Amino acid sequence: MSESLAMIRLWNQVKSNRSQLKKELKKANYLKKSRQSIIHAEQAHKEVFDKIDCLDCANCCSSIPPLITNTDKKRIAKHLNLKLKDFEQQYITLDEDGDEVFNQSPCHFLGDDNKCFIYEVRPKACRQFPHTEGHELFENLNLFKTNIKYCPAAFHILKALSVHT
Ligand code: SF4
Ligand code: SF4
Repeated sequence: MSESLAMIRLWNQVKSNRSQLKKELKKANYLKKSRQSIIHAEQAHKEVFDKIDCLDCANCCSSIPPLITNTDKKRIAKHLNLKLKDFEQQYITLDEDGDEVFNQSPCHFLGDDNKCFIYEVRPKACRQFPHTEGHELFENLNLFKTNIKYCPAAFHILKALSVHT
């Protein structure tokens, strides 16, 4: 089994044990923002994404509709040769917070091979997910804690950070 698949398998085991995750997050002093913790997060992000292959996973694309900005809409509609209105009608809905998101999960643009049909023009939220690159992690801490439940990479970044307690 590849390292990437082993990491995803371990995450699946932990994810099914939510109380273990909750406990880990409660004692997570290492999630306090400091110069040192930002450096650790940068290292952890790089190390984990060097090992994990998102094409073995695609869990974000299968389970969390990304937020769509106006710039995203214009760019993707143009790429698909659609008028903005038609694109909105076909693909966009509002979530419970009133934010615009894709209206289908798994995503319309996710292929059977886990590749994204619109990779070059994908939404900003897709490019930034799981928001773990250095300072980004601390600026989106609640989001990071949520993403651990969906993203094996985020979970392994948490594990790598926990070494620095
Ligand atoms: S647009 Fe592409 S990257 Fe974003 S959720 Fe859909 S398939 Fe995934
Ligand atoms: S970003 Fe996370 S959830 Fe998305 S494909 Fe990569 S490892 Fe999986």
